[in-house]
Amino acid sequence: MNFSGKAKNILSAVLDCLFPRCCTICGKRVDVKEYCNLCSFCAARIPWLRGPRCRLCSRSMGSVPLFGDEGLLCDKCKSSMPCFKSYMACWSHNGIGRSIVLALKYGSADFLKNDIVALLENNCSEVCQFASNSVLVPVPMHYFRRVGRGYNQAEVICEAILKIANESTIVSMLTSRRKKSQTKLAGRDRLLNIKNVFECSSVGVAKNSRIVLVDDVFTTGATARECCHVLHDAGFDDLHVLTLSHG
Ligand SMILES: [Zn+2]
Ligand SMILES: [Zn+2]
Repeated sequence: MNFSGKAKNILSAVLDCLFPRCCTICGKRVDVKEYCNLCSFCAARIPWLRGPRCRLCSRSMGSVPLFGDEGLLCDKCKSSMPCFKSYMACWSHNGIGRSIVLALKYGSADFLKNDIVALLENNCSEVCQFASNSVLVPVPMHYFRRVGRGYNQAEVICEAILKIANESTIVSMLTSRRKKSQTKLAGRDRLLNIKNVFECSSVGVAKNSRIVLVDDVFTTGATARECCHVLHDAGFDDLHVLTLSHG
């Protein structure tokens, strides 16, 4: 290590003593170097999704082994196929996984971006393959809501994913008209609330691009379906969806 590297480490150790870093989720002191705002307890308790899952909604498919290029499909997706080809979620929307998404959404915690990069690199390397050679499209937020929050969490997640993907770009192709928050609505009301909310402006994006729509959480899939529907109508066919959390 050169002199400036050593000086940086010393400065960082001094700053840590003077201003101890606290975990965004539990408030305890951050005790590991690899994360800036997460303690080892919280980082180790993220409910990563493992095992066979439906390729379009990530519903658990029990102990059926994954086989073939097409992957597995649950009965619900078989009966009502969305227009995206595959879906990937990183963790389940409960426990620490849910807390991280809520901190991003409501806690002004966009500073978690680098920790998300480290978490994905350490635990979910499949994200790199899924999001490489792609155009990453954040699920949009209405202008006023974005101004109120200061950022769109889907864009923050896109920026984190871009750091581990190869040959990808972020293009904010979708815009959103004002709608009620989806959070307190149930299945059918979510679909109605989201209808005709999104618009696509795809200038400069080749129609044969692999598009990966990115959001924080996938609950009923209504938002992902509607966004992909709009992208499909705009001429894009190679559509995929990626969310941090699956609820
Ligand atoms: Zn913690
Ligand atoms: Zn499914």
